[in-house]
Amino acid sequence: VPELPEVEAVARDLRRALASAVIEGVTVHRWDVIDGAGRRCGALRLGGGITGVLRHGKQLALVGKDGSVLVVQLGMTGEFGVVPGRAPMIPHTHACWDLDGGRHLRFVDPRRFGGLTLLDGHEALAERWARLGPDALSLPAQWGEAIIHRRTAIKAALLDQGAVAGVGNIYADEALALAGIQPARPCRKLSKHDVAKLRSALCSVLRAALRSGGSTVRTYRRLGGGQGAFQAKLRVYGRSGQPCLGCGMTLRSAQVVGRTTVWCPTCQT
Ligand SMILES: [Zn+2]
Repeated sequence: VPELPEVEAVARDLRRALASAVIEGVTVHRWDVIDGAGRRCGALRLGGGITGVLRHGKQLALVGKDGSVLVVQLGMTGEFGVVPGRAPMIPHTHACWDLDGGRHLRFVDPRRFGGLTLLDGHEALAERWARLGPDALSLPAQWGEAIIHRRTAIKAALLDQGAVAGVGNIYADEALALAGIQPARPCRKLSKHDVAKLRSALCSVLRAALRSGGSTVRTYRRLGGGQGAFQAKLRVYGRSGQPCLGCGMTLRSAQVVGRTTVWCPTCQT
């Protein structure tokens, strides 16, 4: 499942590939993955080009030349990227843009938890993104004060996109490991010092993952892009039963808020 670093890696690929690209046409194979375009391919041409690629949390937005905005959510298995037009059309390609130079921008999503939403413009995008918490890469200093009043476990708060946008199961576990906090600990039992440590751990884990192009685990791939390499540097995620890299104690795993969670019983309290 792509999280912030993987989505930002896609955004970077798109910024490179779509700068000065011309959109010559659009073909839609499945309209039920697209909201707001009213089944009109013309609306999805975005005025014939892209002026910017934005990201907040796990959502991407392409700003069209006509001012319209296409929000892209990758969900669990979504891929969105530019490939040569001669590249084989893989199954579950739901929408395809013809670009200049014989290239294609394609949206592929086998499980269809992702989707595309066409908005009128920046105001509608700002409204949509205001419903999300702050982006996990730029959490304000006062973020922790809101978190310590929540009634849930800290792991649940990290997964709640309304509390912080962009974190999923991998980076929640990694940040909690780096901060030395047990995932099941109630938010209200955290001190100001704990949440300050967590805020800086999130930032440092996400930045390190970004430098590696994200993590490539299971279904996540980048269409027309490279592979992430951060999976080799994960401290706890996917390492249940293996020794903690800090103290050597066997890492434990349990379901926390319905998600498999891994932590070190010694280093994380
Ligand atoms: Zn340990």
